[in-house]
Amino acid sequence: MKSRNKALSTVLLDSTIALSLATVVLAGIALAHSGSTYYPSKWKRDLSVAWRIDNSVPGGAFRNRILDGAQEWNRLAPNMRFSHVGGDATNVNIRRCSPNRPYQRDGVFYGPIDGRLNVLAFVVTCTFPGTNELKHFQMKFDSAENWYTGTGTPGSSAFDVWGVAAHEFGHATGFSGPYAKGHFNPRGGVCTSSPKHTMCPTISLGSTGSRSLEEHERHTFRNVYG
Ligand SMILES: [Zn+2]
Ligand SMILES: [Zn+2]
Repeated sequence: MKSRNKALSTVLLDSTIALSLATVVLAGIALAHSGSTYYPSKWKRDLSVAWRIDNSVPGGAFRNRILDGAQEWNRLAPNMRFSHVGGDATNVNIRRCSPNRPYQRDGVFYGPIDGRLNVLAFVVTCTFPGTNELKHFQMKFDSAENWYTGTGTPGSSAFDVWGVAAHEFGHATGFSGPYAKGHFNPRGGVCTSSPKHTMCPTISLGSTGSRSLEEHERHTFRNVYG
């Protein structure tokens, strides 16, 4: 997820997805939020997705807000869910999908991305080769940002960990819309009207609006996972 109005928070490394989807959706038509358009890949053989918080992530409140972000999705459906497992995530080159990386060796990491603002966090999802079945995800938060780790309202110079985590876990469910490298249309109603949806590409300083999932991400998710 990015700050302000720039694109690209998700890096999808499986080249078989996303490119053919760019012309499909008409903004504002609810039925256009179909599973196949917004979920080019998804979890299949195991819908309880195990994940770990890497030792690089600050302890305490930061981790609790990451858990809160995962919980927003867990509340939606009894089928696909994120199951937090204790222990370190074992860092590797998270921007690369290695065929040798074990199934569901999923993790959340913390470290430098691009300095203050612009990219706040990203998710890399990988599929089993030649399929649209998700194999693992890796999530990273930019350590250069001024993060708000509480449950109240961030100050005007901080970004909300809870809200950004909810957004990134959306990508970890497989959400990858055809706009702005994996999102809802930033110029469409779901991103320009209230409530602004969590899977829009950007978040503003001081905003808590990305925490709760809204109508179109809920029904898109349920189209895919029931
Ligand atoms: Zn995103
Ligand atoms: Zn919709």
